[in-house]
Parts: sequence; C-alpha cells; structure tokens
Amino acid sequence: MLVRTAERPPATDAVHFPWLRWRSVSLGLRDIGSSREDLCLSADESGGSDTVFPLGEPDLYLTFAAISTPQDALAFARQHGLLGEFERGRFATLGVIEPAGIWLTHAALVARVVQVWERLQLPPAARRASLRECIHWQAADYVVARFQGNITIPIAWQGENARWLKRWKPGDLEGPARLFIADEVTRRLYRRATVQILPRDFGDTLQQVLTPADLLAGIWTQVAQLVTGVRQARRCEACGQLFDVTGSRSHKRIHDSCSLRLRMARYRAKKKVEARSNGTKTRKR
Ligand SMILES: [Zn+2]
Repeated sequence: MLVRTAERPPATDAVHFPWLRWRSVSLGLRDIGSSREDLCLSADESGGSDTVFPLGEPDLYLTFAAISTPQDALAFARQHGLLGEFERGRFATLGVIEPAGIWLTHAALVARVVQVWERLQLPPAARRASLRECIHWQAADYVVARFQGNITIPIAWQGENARWLKRWKPGDLEGPARLFIADEVTRRLYRRATVQILPRDFGDTLQQVLTPADLLAGIWTQVAQLVTGVRQARRCEACGQLFDVTGSRSHKRIHDSCSLRLRMARYRAKKKVEARSNGTKTRKR
C-alpha cells in the first residue's frame, strides 16, 4: 500500500495538497529498461524544487485531459510538477523520470471519462443520440464503450458486471455510461487516494475528504468530484472549451479570460468606430 498521505501531517483539505515541482524538467530519450529508448520527462534534481498546490487550480483535470503531445506534458509538468508515477511500480527505481507515453495514456483516460460525463449532462433526446456514438450493445450480454482511435473498453459481459446486464433495459445507454465512469474513476484511484476525516473549514464539524497520494491521483480526485456532482463544469460560450464552474455563480457562462478578451475586443471596436466618425467629421470641416 503506497498511499503516503496518512503518514504526512494532515492537510486542511485536498485543495491544499502539497506537491513538489522540479524547477528543471526536460524531455528526452531515456533508457527505462526496455529494449529501446523511450521519450521521457525527467527532472534534474540538482535544479531544486518548489512546493506547489496544484489542486488549488479548479481546471487542473481539464488542462490535463487536453494533453495530446509530449510537449503538452512537458508544459504541464513545468507548471504543476510530475505525476508521481515514478514513485511506484516499475518506474520506482528510475528516479525522477516519467515516460511521456504514460502521461498521454492517462490524459486520454481522463478525457474519455469527462467526455462520457458530458454526454450524460445533455437534455434527454440529445443525450441518447450522443451516447449512441460511444456506448454499444455488441450482444444482449456484451456492452462496450468505443472511443476515437479504435479503442474499445468492455463495460459489462458475463465475466464482469454481469448483474448489471439484468438491471438495464436492453439497449439502455445511460446505465452503461454511468457504470463506465464509475469503474474508470474507481480503478484510477485504487491505492492512490485515501479517506481523511478533517474539521470542516476549521469549524465544529468533521467532514470526509478524499486525499490523493500523488498529482495523478489528485487529478482523478477532481474527476471523482466532477462525476459525483461536487464539482461542476460547462462549455464556455465564447471559446467552446470546457471549464470548471464549481462554486461560481450559476449564470457564469464564459471563462474570465474569454470575458476579458471579449470586453477588450468590444472596446477596440468602439474606439475604431469613434476614430472613424471623428475622421469623417474632420473631413467635413
Ligand atoms: Zn472560453
């Protein structure tokens, strides 16, 4: 069992989860014990590190889900630190090195869960049409989720989750979609997060919180919060990207940065119109 958080001084909550960010992280080919060299993120420990609180960023799981190249991974690692994968399993002996492939795999896993979650948020008619693109009954006793890149993930069949097959109406899409999400998130948090009982807001009551053992688990903790309704996200009406709106006013429909960009654009347009009308007046004189 490698969850370290229980050995640490108690955090006030998951948001204040401290993490080491190496100051010098680079991308390069490294021998990680396979027959060939792999593209890896590695930290130069002599460069030093800072303590950061990456989970204070409500959009962290969405930024992570958008990683699609090793360069994206590098940018994320430089801002928030490495995932923590090096501390366990087969990379434990390698020091502060993480194969870029692991980053891309995990980013894709998060993206898939968020994608299915978003399909479930649609109004009923659109929801069904959208889920049909991803949840498939291959047979009366075999349901899978399918994703871009020819990826098929079994959800329920006689060997696993068979009792669910009896609960769902044949052809049901929402039940399998929810089970897919539940299964993925549970699997990713297994042995990576622990429950902590902490005073709520330094007050008189105790609360139960999920505390991650590493940054990757922290990202999945945010995903767990999203799918259980603790966290909310929606598409920005300006740029179309998903953004986290947990705790913000319910009418917030665009990013703060997009709102600023739009205001600046309107301001510039107004100035242009003013300049033009001033110019017209000058010519008339
Ligand atoms: Zn936006």
